[in-house]
Amino acid sequence: MVSLGTNRETLRLHLGFAAAPDVVLHAVGRLFTRGTAGEHEAARQTIREYLGTLPPVPVQPRRRPHQADQSHLLNLRAEFDRVNARYFADELPDIPLYLSDRMRRRNGHFSVSPLEIVISRRLCTSAAPDEAESTLRHEMIHLWQHVNGRSPDHGMEFRRWAQVLKVHPRATRMVCWRA
Ligand SMILES: [Zn+2]
Repeated sequence: MVSLGTNRETLRLHLGFAAAPDVVLHAVGRLFTRGTAGEHEAARQTIREYLGTLPPVPVQPRRRPHQADQSHLLNLRAEFDRVNARYFADELPDIPLYLSDRMRRRNGHFSVSPLEIVISRRLCTSAAPDEAESTLRHEMIHLWQHVNGRSPDHGMEFRRWAQVLKVHPRATRMVCWRA
């Protein structure tokens, strides 16, 4: 919330202090100047009370999904939770899921940094049932590899999981599109 830079000349304040009344800013000043323990404690108390009045900072998702994606993303999230519980003992972290229009040849993508799974939007809108879910399961195997310290690949372990999760055992596959 309040910290002193390493050169001890820069005072860093949480953005919430930008609109703080003078009495609070004075208290901040008192904290970083000589004074009695009682004066410093009173200053801390003033700051604490002010911070208690600030609204919580909303956690911003990295990307805001399109309104039209919501139902597709809910379906995919439900599939993620189901597969995570049934096959992975709920050990996979709940990472963000996104849809993308920009995938030409790939159906999905697992990324480590940022940690996320992206599914081609076309799979949700134009492919046969379970194509998007099956791609999600494919990417979930990569997530499992990642959280277990393996690098995501399509080796033997991948193929073993692919069989369990009813996923095509190779990196690419044919997609059935809706008639
Ligand atoms: Zn893959």
